[in-house]
Amino acid sequence: MRTAIYPGSFDPVTFGHLDIIKRSASMFDRLVVGVLKNSAKKSLFTIDERVSMIKSLTKDYPNVEVASFDGLMIDYAKQIGASVVIRGLRAVTDFEYELQIAQTNRVESPEIDTVFLTTSLKYSYLSSTIVKEFASYGGDISKFVPKEIIPLIMEKFGREA
Ligand code: ADP
Repeated sequence: MRTAIYPGSFDPVTFGHLDIIKRSASMFDRLVVGVLKNSAKKSLFTIDERVSMIKSLTKDYPNVEVASFDGLMIDYAKQIGASVVIRGLRAVTDFEYELQIAQTNRVESPEIDTVFLTTSLKYSYLSSTIVKEFASYGGDISKFVPKEIIPLIMEKFGREA
């Protein structure tokens, strides 16, 4: 059985992330979406909120699990038996950083490979940061995130959905 991990902050999850989840779930037997507990990075949503949003949005994919982790991603990957790390590439700006991380991980753990999925063009501009920026000014985020989570995001900014 081939397990892949898709790690990230997902603060909040967007259509871009969900597209990568859907596509990678069809490529592997088991996909674990690993939500990073990053104490250095100030997040809008708590770790439990992020996990629960992704769980409810992926409930129809039987081979997708959602869990949080802290510490080194590659250690967590080993712990859950993942042999592949999935990352999404939006533009060349993602590339240099992602390549460096993938190569570092490969030195540490040669048995785990990183697979890059290029984003669907319609989501190539999309990031969690853009969603937060838009929402903070009361903008329409319905093209960025599923409707189920719009009220949760707007509430964080004291705005009505
Ligand atoms: P991180 O803080 O680790 O960058 P993110 O939650 O921002 O976490 O992203 C997790 C992964 O999803 C990364 O591989 C990122 O490149 C990818 N990703 C983010 N937004 C998109 C998008 N719009 N389309 C495809 N992949 C994306």
